[in-house]
Amino acid sequence: MIVGASYAGIQLAASAREFGFDGHIVLLGDEPDAPYHRPPLSKGFLTGSYAEDRLPLRSQAFLEEEKIQWMPCTRAIYIDRERKEVELHDGTRITYDHLALTTGARVRKLDCPGAAHEAVHYLRDLRDARRLAETARTARRAVVIGGGYIGLEAAASLRQQGLEVTVVETELRLLARVASPWLSEFMLRAHTDRGVAFEFGRKVVALHSTVDVCSVELEDGTRLMCDLVVVGIGVVPNTELAADSGLKLAGGIAVDSFARTSDPSIFAAGDCVSFVPYWAPAGMPACRIESVQNANDMAKIAAASIVGRSEPYRALPWFWSDQYDLKLQMAGVNTGFTEFVLRGAVEDRKFSLFYFRGVKLIAVDSINRPQDHMLARKLLANGAQPTPQQLADPDFDLKALANQPVPVAQGVA
Ligand code: ADP
Repeated sequence: MIVGASYAGIQLAASAREFGFDGHIVLLGDEPDAPYHRPPLSKGFLTGSYAEDRLPLRSQAFLEEEKIQWMPCTRAIYIDRERKEVELHDGTRITYDHLALTTGARVRKLDCPGAAHEAVHYLRDLRDARRLAETARTARRAVVIGGGYIGLEAAASLRQQGLEVTVVETELRLLARVASPWLSEFMLRAHTDRGVAFEFGRKVVALHSTVDVCSVELEDGTRLMCDLVVVGIGVVPNTELAADSGLKLAGGIAVDSFARTSDPSIFAAGDCVSFVPYWAPAGMPACRIESVQNANDMAKIAAASIVGRSEPYRALPWFWSDQYDLKLQMAGVNTGFTEFVLRGAVEDRKFSLFYFRGVKLIAVDSINRPQDHMLARKLLANGAQPTPQQLADPDFDLKALANQPVPVAQGVA
């Protein structure tokens, strides 16, 4: 039984079948739509270049062929671990042998007076995106609250549709959670060059509204007039179901490297999960990784554990974002980097940043250099150790290094 029907849930079901699981699979989720791609919601879906019929992750035929019983609009409200039963919102109980929690995360809500005004939008699920796309068609001025991935993608999409856009960010730079200050600065320039305005370092204290005009008040009294507000201030993991049944949490549902929770019959994967990744520097506490890659790869590990083919989670994290004509791809995590090297041409908006912690290459951000990104994923997974000097040299053959056989001692283990 799989609770949560998005990336991790559907992947877990598909992988379980692939690994030979021939029991009954129930995949339930509270959304009415079958599992769908979320990244386009803040990008092409909003600008109109990505049609809704391309969103489903798997076809209905796939679900039928693989005998995956998908239950839409269904909420699990309690896990009776002793009886191995999950209680649904309508009181029905379903028994399980193996339970997987792929409950994801929900948006963090803006918490200030006026935050419930109908001009305020969030971007997490398809219903949010449909409503926002509809409003954006006639809106003229938008305020985007939050300068993370969602906020910036929404800002770019709205700006491309001709809206005036102002982004409000409490930190002093963009993408502060994930990007280096250098990349933050580059992304800021990309947006200001296209006419997006920014307000940094101040909180939103209230939203005021009349019938069709809204103003966003910042703590210094600044008021930003608009007819549309998009909030992208992060997410909160959906851990309540796990918590209520006494599973161990650590900022997310705690799992080991085999995607096992503190109950041997219950597995978990995706945005709702916290774990200590294989690449963590010594002493790093368990963390959550919000990405499609993590949801998919960890779901495969959970499925493998369920069928008794346990293997540890050792996938390299990677992320991407599309804003205007910029394709940002990130491989690895640059936490604690001590140095970085630039490769490529910033003026052409085609370059990569290679981050080192000491002598170790730990992460690579690429802008419009997809080949660098693919090679970076290999280099990082293989534990290859190019030097900063090599990477700064445009003639250095990155591909040859990435394709070198992996010395066993330096492998991903
Ligand atoms: P998301 O997935 O929503 O983009 P991130 O964590 O990547 O989440 O980014 C959220 C951004 O919102 C961060 O840069 C954070 O500093 C910013 N933020 C959080 N709370 C507020 C707030 N109340 N007003 C403005 N910005 C905020």
